[in-house]
Amino acid sequence: MKVPLLDLKAQYKKHKQELDQALIEVAESQYFILGPKVKKLEEEICEKLNVKHAIGVSSGTDALLIALMAAGIKPGDEVIVPTYSFFATAGVVSRLAAVPIFTDVDPVTYNIDVNDIEKRITPKTKAIIPVHLYGQTADMDPILEIARKHNLCVIEDGAQAITAQYKDGKCAGTIGHIGCFSFFPSKNLGCFGDGGMVVTNDDELGERLRIMRVHGGKPKYYHKTIGGNFRLDAIQAAVLSVKLPYIDSWSEGRRKNAALYNKLFMEAGLANITGKAEFDDKNKVQLPMAMYEKLGIKNYHIYNQYVIRVEKRDELMAHLKENDIGCEIYYPVSFHKQECFQELINDPANDMAMDQYPVSDFCADHSIALPVYPELSEEQIEFVVATIKKFIAG
Ligand SMILES: *Cc1c(COP(=O)(O)O)cnc(C)c1O
Repeated sequence: MKVPLLDLKAQYKKHKQELDQALIEVAESQYFILGPKVKKLEEEICEKLNVKHAIGVSSGTDALLIALMAAGIKPGDEVIVPTYSFFATAGVVSRLAAVPIFTDVDPVTYNIDVNDIEKRITPKTKAIIPVHLYGQTADMDPILEIARKHNLCVIEDGAQAITAQYKDGKCAGTIGHIGCFSFFPSKNLGCFGDGGMVVTNDDELGERLRIMRVHGGKPKYYHKTIGGNFRLDAIQAAVLSVKLPYIDSWSEGRRKNAALYNKLFMEAGLANITGKAEFDDKNKVQLPMAMYEKLGIKNYHIYNQYVIRVEKRDELMAHLKENDIGCEIYYPVSFHKQECFQELINDPANDMAMDQYPVSDFCADHSIALPVYPELSEEQIEFVVATIKKFIAG
């Protein structure tokens, strides 16, 4: 049985007529950049996430970059980010000649370790970027409290978490000052190319983001600020407007699949839900998400990824691939181990010694993402668990 990590064609096939129609409409209008389709999508996103301003941009990476620019991040400013995330989270900070300061992550959620933030704050710290990794929100309450105390801007990297909710029901991206989303095709809400969105409840930030999206000119050709070309195009907006009404049913599909994985791993006697960054039983599969549920924390997780941890991860990966099961490692190299950041790590002034990130190191060495997309069948999920069981039994 073949089980791909993601099958975008299955979703396209189901909604082909509507999607093709949307593409044709854009072709016939010959209105390609920003315009009414983008405006419509922005309004729909505001309503869906219950947020005041949504600004369509060119990618999730550009969403983070423009957010930092609008927040006034300057060369030499420090921005706190978890060391375990997609590269863009830290890359955008360095692109502004600011300094990414890395924290370790939580072993249960893979999100920023809220107990590792405050000791990293210096007079140069200007912002924190919590990442809602794999589709689950970071623990925002303590982050907001720290941010208030130290007057920091909170920019949420919600690239994997559009419509995920924090415990009280607030949507990811609408909890801090600015929220950033990606519509890269493999995200839960994906377009037909690159695309992104920034959201905020702050009128002034909303206005600044809008101006910065078009090179910082307002009126056109008159520049008080320097922005860039961060525009979303109409084809992407049209596709996203077609897909947005289905996002909740897709999330439910992913949640159902994740719950089935948890159940099957438990029934097979393979589940370890201690939530620790170590293996007390090497023949078990760590299910951090199930642990999270056990703790009774009520986040609405949308499972952009379903990630387990196993002792012999690389061998398991080879075994799954041999059996035609797609899987991937998100992410094998944390920021503190990236070559491009070694100068930062080696500068004692930054206090980011290599041994300060044991949980991230453990996750990078042992985590593996399994297929969880909504169109998967129960048989496919059963096959994945059976294949892992066979591997562990040796
Ligand atoms: C995908 C992703 C991004 C970047 O989004 P792009 O649209 O690919 O530029 C940023 N952060 C995280 C956590 C992501 O998963």
